[in-house]
Amino acid sequence: MANVGFIGLGNMGGPMASNLIKAGHSVVVFDLSQAACDQLQGLGASVARSSAEAATGMDYVISMLPAGKHVAITYLGDGGLLSMLDATTTVLDCSTIDAATARTVGAEAAERGIGFMDAPVSGGVAAAAAGTLAFMCGGDANTFEKARLILQDMGKNIFHAGRAGSGQVAKGCNNMLLAIHMIGTSEALEMGARNGLDPKVLSEIMLASSGRNWSLEVYNPYPGVMETAPASNDYQPGFMVDLMVKDLGLAMEIAHQSEVDNVMGQLASALYNAHQQAGNGQKDFSSILQTLQG
Ligand code: NAD
Repeated sequence: MANVGFIGLGNMGGPMASNLIKAGHSVVVFDLSQAACDQLQGLGASVARSSAEAATGMDYVISMLPAGKHVAITYLGDGGLLSMLDATTTVLDCSTIDAATARTVGAEAAERGIGFMDAPVSGGVAAAAAGTLAFMCGGDANTFEKARLILQDMGKNIFHAGRAGSGQVAKGCNNMLLAIHMIGTSEALEMGARNGLDPKVLSEIMLASSGRNWSLEVYNPYPGVMETAPASNDYQPGFMVDLMVKDLGLAMEIAHQSEVDNVMGQLASALYNAHQQAGNGQKDFSSILQTLQG
């Protein structure tokens, strides 16, 4: 069992840290929110007074923070964690952030001989609680082997995508594709419905045909077609539009920096931004159907 410092105990980090405790690891936590720390203390964690205290002497430091700037402040520069750790600690940042910051943290860690991996997740709060997250990892092979030993206690599928930053690129690619096929699926179902087809029957037809995709198969955006999908529960999330907009922004940055002409991705990003600005940020992302319906 390992000594783990866990930083960032929000909707995702809280249940992830809790699963590490359940698996028998010794977990020291830190969050800016005292309430979040107290909750984890109740589940068996020790609470540190700073991220430095949570990280000191640990086998693993794991962070689950909102954005790149929080990750940069936590790890980089003179006061950052990398300046006070050594090769005995493996650092895993599971936050969804820009690939450029992940590469910068990876480069500074490599200079100091510290194993670092960006390991963003796929799967929301329910998967974090159930310990079924997918991790997309970027870093060297040696660090990946160490990372796998601990990530397996929080997730089901653990992929090595490539060098530092590659986890964030993989997540950007996946979520851009997810947005595109959710919009395409919504558009096709709406076109069928306006021409008198029953969306349930049309879904069955497309599922058995070449239009089959994940949005249609497990997350149908048309209300009433699939009982368990957010669409049939007033678009309660699920995966919020706000988070989809964040992830699409990161994907657009990756495309821009690598000079990819991602026409479909840009269109999907514009549609989701408009949907968010119309007041739908807290709804499930499959509610994009409502914007397409006008
Ligand atoms: P959240 O806002 O619920 O939690 C973030 C936590 O980080 C908060 O408790 C906050 O107090 C803490 N924090 C911020 N700055 C800090 C610092 N400097 N030191 C210590 N703690 C700090 O966010 P979340 O929903 O848990 O998401 C975390 C990350 O996971 C994000 O990058 C998000 O994009 C990603 N993600 C979220 C979901 C989801 O469904 N919520 C799914 C996949 C990935």
